[in-house]
Amino acid sequence: MILGSHVHFGKEQLLGAAREAISYGANAFMLYTGAPQNTVRKAIEIDYINDAKKIMEENNISIENVICHAPYIINLANKEKIDSWNFSISFLKNEIKRCESLGIKYIVIHPGSSVNLTKEEGINNIIEALNIIITNDTKCMILLETMAGKGSECGRTLEEVKLILDGVNSQNIGVCIDTCHLNDAGYNMAEFDEFLLGFDKIIGINNIKCVHVNDSKNVLGAHKDRHENLGFGTIGFSALLNIINHEKLKNIPKILETPYVSREEGEKQLVFPPYNFEIEMIKKGIFNPNLIEDIREYYK
Ligand code: FE
Ligand code: FE
Ligand code: ZN
Repeated sequence: MILGSHVHFGKEQLLGAAREAISYGANAFMLYTGAPQNTVRKAIEIDYINDAKKIMEENNISIENVICHAPYIINLANKEKIDSWNFSISFLKNEIKRCESLGIKYIVIHPGSSVNLTKEEGINNIIEALNIIITNDTKCMILLETMAGKGSECGRTLEEVKLILDGVNSQNIGVCIDTCHLNDAGYNMAEFDEFLLGFDKIIGINNIKCVHVNDSKNVLGAHKDRHENLGFGTIGFSALLNIINHEKLKNIPKILETPYVSREEGEKQLVFPPYNFEIEMIKKGIFNPNLIEDIREYYK
């Protein structure tokens, strides 16, 4: 089982991220190389990489199972404001360089939102941008994440993702499926074998390089994108466990992006990561209906 969560890339960069993953009992992890919601980035420091590699080796974490996620504000689909489109391209290029210096092999992007443009125009803009970004020297593979279809998001259907993959000249591109997004997009995760058959027909199962495992706060086809802790949403624990343990996705990293658990303390609202508890629950294979209370109690 290759399983982890998203973690922080703080002061100690890859080392801090690896330590956090290890503390959750994970053997994979995903990071943003800075804040997910902005493009402020600190220089990569080599010392942390070497120390990180050491503790990763000791804890059986392969760099193949470390995923980067590009910030949300990158939008390759909309060219109306040409400056922001150009900025997204150059920022993503730079983010890929950062991944390469860290030794990271995969970077997940949200394909983008077409805003006032048509879906078709949006998709064509994404393709044009990716053909600028991916060159023969690009070592890191971009993974297109399947989206919930909120607003004007491109990449809600497998057919849209396929159009983008087909338009990109390079083979160095793959897909990250997100169970919450797929549910919200209208794909029933309780019938995952059927979904995979369809995926294989349209895109090809070998293109899946990462799975985001999240439950959803919303019903099938809601086009919302609000993640929920495993077993506390509309997808449910057994459907998600089946995906995590699926034979055909055995060697693919599964990454939790479930919400932090909050607790009021006086005026303050404190939040705690659920990942060590969720990972333990997955390894046991038994749903814990008291998970949220257990987390609140543990961090008291
Ligand atoms: Fe994402
Ligand atoms: Fe995701
Ligand atoms: Zn999401």
